[in-house]
This record gives sequence, structure tokens and C-alpha cells, in this order.
Amino acid sequence: MTDREYDYDVVVVGGGPCGSTISTLVAMQGHRVLLLEKERFPRYQIGESLLPSTVHGICRILGVEEDLRRANFMPKRGGTFRWGANPEPWTFSFGLSSKFAGDAATAYQVERMRFDQILLDNARRKGVEVREETSVVDVLTDADTDRVDGVRYAGPDGVRREVRSRYVVDASGNKSRIHTRVGGQRRYSEFFRNLALFGYFEGGKRMPAPNRGNILAVAFDAGWFWYIPLTEELTSVGVVLMPEALDRAQGDREKALLDLIQQCPMIADCLSDARRVTEGPYGEIRVRKDYSYIQEKFWRPGLVLVGDAACFIDPVFSSGVHLATYSALLAARSINTALAGGVDESTCFEEFEVRYRREYARFHDFLVAFYDMHQDENSYFWKAKKVTNNTTASEMESFVELVGGGSSNEAALVSSGAYTGQRGAAYQELAELVAQPVGTAGEDRDLLRSTLARSVSKEGTRIQVQAELGESTDENVPVRQGGLVPSTDGLHWSSPPPRPAG
Ligand SMILES: Cc1cc2nc3c(=O)[nH]c(=O)nc-3n(C[C@H](O)[C@H](O)[C@H](O)COP(=O)(O)OP(=O)(O)OC[C@H]3O[C@@H](n4cnc5c(N)ncnc54)[C@H](O)[C@@H]3O)c2cc1C
Repeated sequence: MTDREYDYDVVVVGGGPCGSTISTLVAMQGHRVLLLEKERFPRYQIGESLLPSTVHGICRILGVEEDLRRANFMPKRGGTFRWGANPEPWTFSFGLSSKFAGDAATAYQVERMRFDQILLDNARRKGVEVREETSVVDVLTDADTDRVDGVRYAGPDGVRREVRSRYVVDASGNKSRIHTRVGGQRRYSEFFRNLALFGYFEGGKRMPAPNRGNILAVAFDAGWFWYIPLTEELTSVGVVLMPEALDRAQGDREKALLDLIQQCPMIADCLSDARRVTEGPYGEIRVRKDYSYIQEKFWRPGLVLVGDAACFIDPVFSSGVHLATYSALLAARSINTALAGGVDESTCFEEFEVRYRREYARFHDFLVAFYDMHQDENSYFWKAKKVTNNTTASEMESFVELVGGGSSNEAALVSSGAYTGQRGAAYQELAELVAQPVGTAGEDRDLLRSTLARSVSKEGTRIQVQAELGESTDENVPVRQGGLVPSTDGLHWSSPPPRPAG
């Protein structure tokens, strides 16, 4: 097929956070992008707790930071967990990591109907042609080369049509079947085979400031609850049940959810004065099998899988939108580089796949250890340091970096200002926290006393620590032999700079 016969450079299937992100990042390079979305927005979606890497990394690159501020989403400073051997809740704040200093220490809890709409509107503004109520039914392949070169879709009138493009991106989430066309199997985790049951409440309690907006995760004998304050009034409440407790979700959904809440005293207390929302998009009690999976292949010539279409991991650390939007950035670099020519297509897409698998593996490996309820938080922090292979940060900081989505050494995922320009300020803050009398450090005081304070004071002066952490920011080192590194504009791949001799 000649260039002139392609209707678009890229067709993106799905307008969730992943589809909007990749289409915007490709259109920003002047390429012709068509996005096809099955639903009419705003549409309901689960996945409401965001990480700083999404809010201050990807959303900054997309240019929607101001839209998010105006949307008045609930600020999320970190997480509070009743989890593991410690019977008392413990809290972490993103600000404990130097990667999330200043403004970047706060993410958001979002109503996905509104968040996804902001990203989709932004894609339109950046030149993406968006068609809603348009469902892709299959991909098309070139009979001679077997390369994917377009899609067949049905619009609002139900008529099936075809459109040709140089690349097709499957960002259709976990329910569509398009991923089967990449070849290879979808491998389900033996370990995470859970089921989630969830609904919405008004009038639930809030944690005291400054943690009002934190996600609360509470383990109990059948699994664990999430409690996400979406607005001052509205709370998203869900239970994730272990395979051995699935019978507790049988029968009437409302009764099952309310019974399970009573089995978890901390959540029952939070909801003691609340009423369940029974109307509108939040009125339904929903069930999702949140089985974790990963595709054996993420791409073939002409087709690439991103976001939930490629893999999904248990939601306890709210990593779904982070993985979706980060994979969108990685794949956008591959497409932009391949379209610009000069670098072999396989090398571009292998770079995307290797990096996306690495990020997924970090969460997966850590989560396996996190589900061991016989450990306490210090053991989880230690594990985070092992999994991230972080030789410079403390155990606690490694944990915060990981669960904030910032452990990949990608400058794009952390607030660049905070990470580079303001690194000194971050250390000032850290030093002050450590120097504070335990009584004024609030909810983080035990953590500071245990892991962070110990590691910082052991290292001696702040300057030594700063010098050490500086080394871990180098994204110019490829992650594999012969690999590529992000270009200076962050939207392509390039060859790594030559390493200085000696
Ligand atoms: C129980 C549970 C709790 C979760 N909690 C969190 C959380 O707190 N934080 C978090 O970050 N993540 C969470 N997640 C994960 C999060 O929901 C997903 O990872 C995220 O939505 C993935 O984004 P995406 O863009 O890849 O897919 P989606 O958001 O699913 O978007 C895919 C889009 O594609 C469209 N589509 C589907 N098929 C077609 C087709 N054939 N043609 C055209 N369009 C199509 C869909 O309508 C949809 O709009 C949770 C998941 C579960 C199951």
C-alpha cells in the first residue's frame, strides 16, 4: 500500500485515558490520528484513584494540568492502609519521595466520567479526529504482507465501514477481543484471581486533615476494601474478594456488599452515617473480575496493544491509569519515531514492550509480597527497595516512588521542576521532617522514625544523600543492550549518547 492510500497515520481504538493519551501525543507531532470510541462520553468507568506520575507527569505533557485544577478533584496526598501484621493503620505520603516534591506530592481522586472527558476533549483540541458511538469490530490485514493496516468499524448508524492506517493502536481496555489479533495468549496470573464488588455512598466519614483525600485500604479476612473520597459527599467503596471468599458475593449484590461492610469494622464505622447512592451512574452495584493478566505479545507489524488491552494488575496500588498512560507515552514514542523514519520499526516497538513489561513486573513482584499479611509495613518497604533495585533511596522512599509511579527513572513521569530544579528544596523538606520532633510530624511520624529517619541519619549529611540520588535520575542509560533512550523532546526514541571513555 502506498502512503497516499492510507486514510490516517494512526487509528486508535478506545477513548479511555490510554487512547486519549497516545492519540494526543502522536497528533502533537502533526500526524493524522483517528480515535474510535464505542460509547458516548461521559461514560462510567472504575479506576478513580490516580498517582502523581499521571497527574504531574503525563497530564503535564498532555497540557491538561490546568483543566484538572479547574475540575476541583479531591486532592490525594497518599494512602492509609490497615494491612499486614500491624493492627494499626499506617499512612504514607507521596511527598516523602524527592521525586514528588512540592506540588507533585499531591495526586487526585477523580470521577472517571469527568477525568476521561477532559483527556478526550484535549485530544480533539490537539487535532485528533474523535468519533464516539463507533465500535471497532476487527482489524484489517494486508493479504501480501500480513501487516495490520486498518480497522472495520460500525458507527451510530450501524453500517460497517473500513478505514486504512499505517498503525492501529488497541487501547480498548479489558473487554474487547481486538487483542487476540496480535497473536499469542492472554496469560492470567495464578496469584491474583480476585473479584471486586463496588458501589457509592454519600455522607461517609473523612480522615482528619491533611489526609482527608487519601485512599483508605483495609484488609479483612475475606480480602480488602477500598474507600476513596471522590468529593466531600461522595465515596467510592469496593471490596476485593480472595478466591476462597467468592461465595460471599453470591446472590443479591446490594445485600452482599452491605453484609461485607459489616464484616470489616473500620469501613462499617466510616459508613455508619452514610447512605448508598441508588440512582444515576453511581446507583448501580457493579461486579468486576479483576483477574490480573498479561499478553504474550504486545505488538505485531502495524498493531500495538496499550493500557488494559495489554495487561492488568491487581488494583490495590491504583496503578491502572498510571500503567495505561505510561504505556501510551512509550508507544507514542515508538510510533512517532517509526513514522519519522531512520530507526528500524522493530527496534522502536521492542523498546516500548521491554519498558512496559518492566513497569508491570515491578508492580506485580511487589504486590505478591504485599499480599503476605504476616509481614509489617517495614518489610513491605524493604521489598519495594529490592523490587525497584534502588541502590540510592531508602526503603521507605523506594516504596513511595514505586506506588507513586515514579520508579522507572523516567523524567517524564515526575514533575521535572521538582525533580531537577527543586531537588535542593526537596532535601530541605526531608531534612526538616527528619529533624522535627516526632509529635509534629503527624501521621508519618512512625515511618519517619523507623525507616526514613534511620536511613537518612545513617548516611550522614544531606549533601551526601543528594549526591547519591542525583545518580539515579539518568534516563540516558538504555534499559537493555542496544536499546534506545527518550529523545530530548520526550516524544521519540533516540540512540543513547556515547559514554565517556574510562
Ligand atoms: C476493581 C478495580 C478497581 C480499580 N481501581 C483503580 C484505581 O483506583 N486507580 C487506577 O488507576 N486504576 C484502577 N483500576 C484500573 C483502571 O480501571 C484501568 O486500568 C484503566 O481504566 C485502563 O485505562 P484504558 O484506557 O487502558 O482502558 P479503559 O479505561 O477501559 O478505556 C477503554 C475504552 O475503549 C472503549 N472500547 C472498548 N471496546 C471498543 C471497541 N471495540 N471499539 C471502540 N472502543 C472500544 C471503551 O468504551 C472504553 O472507553 C481498577 C480496576 C478495577 C477492575
